Amino acid sequence: MNKITISKEQAVQKINELVEQLNQYNSQYYLFDNPSVDDFEYDELLRALQKLEQQYPELVLENSPTQNVGAEIDNRFAPVKHLKPMLSLNNALEINDVEHFVNQCIKLTEQQNLVFTCEPKFDGLAISLHYRKGKLVCAATRGDGKIGEDVTHNILTINKIPKQLNDNNPPEFIEIRGEVIIFIQDFEKLNKKQQELGERLYVNPRNAAAGSLRKLVSSDTANIPLSFFAYGIGSLENNQQSNIFFKYHHEVLQKLKEWNLPIAEQYIKVVEGAEGLKQYYNDMQTQRENLPFDIDGMVYKIDDLFLQQEMGFVAKAPRFAIAHKFPPKNSITKLLNIDVQVGRTGAITPVARLEPVMTGGVTISNATLHNEDEILRKDICINDEVYIRRAADVIPEVFALYAKAENRIKFVMPTHCPKCGSIIVKLEGEAIARCSGSSICPAQRKGGLVHFASRKALNIEGFGEKIVNQLVDLNIVNNISDIFTLTIETLANLDRMGQKSAQNLIDEIQKAKNNVNLAKFIYALGIRHVGESTAKDLARFFGSFENIKNASIEQLLQVQDVGEVVANAIKLYFENTPEQWFNELLQHINFELIIENNQSQQKNSFFAQKTVVLTGTLEKYSRDELISSLEKLGAKITSSVSKKTNIVIAGSEAGSKLEKARSLGIEVLNEEELLEHLNLN
Ligand code: NAD
Repeated sequence: MNKITISKEQAVQKINELVEQLNQYNSQYYLFDNPSVDDFEYDELLRALQKLEQQYPELVLENSPTQNVGAEIDNRFAPVKHLKPMLSLNNALEINDVEHFVNQCIKLTEQQNLVFTCEPKFDGLAISLHYRKGKLVCAATRGDGKIGEDVTHNILTINKIPKQLNDNNPPEFIEIRGEVIIFIQDFEKLNKKQQELGERLYVNPRNAAAGSLRKLVSSDTANIPLSFFAYGIGSLENNQQSNIFFKYHHEVLQKLKEWNLPIAEQYIKVVEGAEGLKQYYNDMQTQRENLPFDIDGMVYKIDDLFLQQEMGFVAKAPRFAIAHKFPPKNSITKLLNIDVQVGRTGAITPVARLEPVMTGGVTISNATLHNEDEILRKDICINDEVYIRRAADVIPEVFALYAKAENRIKFVMPTHCPKCGSIIVKLEGEAIARCSGSSICPAQRKGGLVHFASRKALNIEGFGEKIVNQLVDLNIVNNISDIFTLTIETLANLDRMGQKSAQNLIDEIQKAKNNVNLAKFIYALGIRHVGESTAKDLARFFGSFENIKNASIEQLLQVQDVGEVVANAIKLYFENTPEQWFNELLQHINFELIIENNQSQQKNSFFAQKTVVLTGTLEKYSRDELISSLEKLGAKITSSVSKKTNIVIAGSEAGSKLEKARSLGIEVLNEEELLEHLNLN
């Protein structure tokens, strides 16, 4: 054991600091799904705290993360009380820790030949599913372990989770526990799509899964390819027909499978003693690279449920189970230099140039360093040895310092943009430095053009990064409006373009300019902080481009979800962009005509000014398509049913929202009726 030389006074201060810091990290991780540090770094700090607390048990604070699960819950969601607490797991990092765990189990149960169920430790978000009489009625996150957040509306969008248990005699009530995850392949596709749309990339599948599950609007969640694995149960209440009783944990898993809940059967094993666990660990470690989903280790649980109950819990974790964590997937290499990249909004990202190194089966020579503050916080300098990680196997990042070099050189953020020479500015309170050149800067112009043409904006198919890079580098396209004056001849002369593909692209451009609506156009402009949903709110509120352009801060603040930061960004954008620029652009897309069309279409529509909620499974069209049609007709889509809701569209297997709509006397349409109103039948 390490000899601890810290005095009690020093320990008090250090414990306070660590508790405060770790609780802050917990909020970022659990509440905002946006960790500020790597798990590796978090675990190191947690271990440091545990060591101090072991040395001075009288100094353990009530709010210590060693004593509490997760973080406080987010009050945007309704609270759900867990009938049995949802706990954390103690960790084993080395094989000695596993042997120690097995010995403890032997001691506490007074049994020699203990049998364990071994399962993958899914790296996602824990969920408790409530089934009443076999029907899914509620889903909650783990929250602080006692109270979770109601995410039923989003869980219903996950096809792999049955809305009804496959059982003629289901229990009166059962809580099923499991993890919402994203398969690696789906995650890669998702990030590719984000990249094409010029949107923020997800750091890893865990954060993407947790972030999407905790969205307020279920249509946002439905767009994310979420999956689920069940791994246990909480509270269980039988009725006269159901007579469910489990003796072993592996029987629980089998039952979950029979009920149609996905379990990771292929990777689950029942083994005996420490030797069995070691063998399983080695097997899984060799398979790790090829697993279709991320795991951060394995979970070993005593199989006998009676023994589990006997052993009970300590602080925030059970005594009968342990998580055997994998060492982090990372490599060490030399940081040769740091360059900066300029993004669409002018964001300057420091990029590490590395001595090539293999990580997760791929050779990496460049990796992100995120921003200047991160470099300072991690104390990373040029020539140092650094840890590299392929975050979720896609975006390589430098995540920690390994060893300082003697000839280390501090990174200095350039004062001027490497692409256009404009001054780089960093606003107070912001981590990101930005090039102030806006449209003068070719890097921002390229990003802006790609964004303008992206799917959720003007949706010009084929007008991606490769074409845009050439058009800007050759000075053919300088402004967005130049897109509309491109000719087949010009395009056909570009790299990897021929007459046919040039013609196709021109057709796409023509098609796009006739299909644009105000919200898409506002979104396409790429105004800072104005995403798709804010653009829709602005369009709905102001009704015309001129009104948005001339809106005062006070008027902007009246729009739903627009706060000061967003209002200022919009105002600044319109003040700084020359009138002439808009005139040129608008002349190509006959914008007013389209708005008029929409407005007259909306005026006569059944859905005009109506607040609409979609629930259940809609079969003929995707939710996105239906939402877009409804919005065109003037509907406002919300996620939860309240007195303000005018219409509920209920697909098959609609649950609590439909019930609520009926109890409030709200008009309900089924899918057929909806399609008739939309003339889509
Ligand atoms: P944990 O993730 O180590 O273990 C408990 C969780 O494991 C359960 O809630 C459950 O959801 C999950 N799990 C997955 N597969 C399972 C299975 N087969 N059976 C049972 N449970 C299974 O514990 P925790 O307290 O949620 O999180 C601690 C870890 O989270 C830390 O070790 C750290 O790596 C990470 N974390 C990171 C940050 C950060 O800022 N980077 C902050 C907080 C926590």
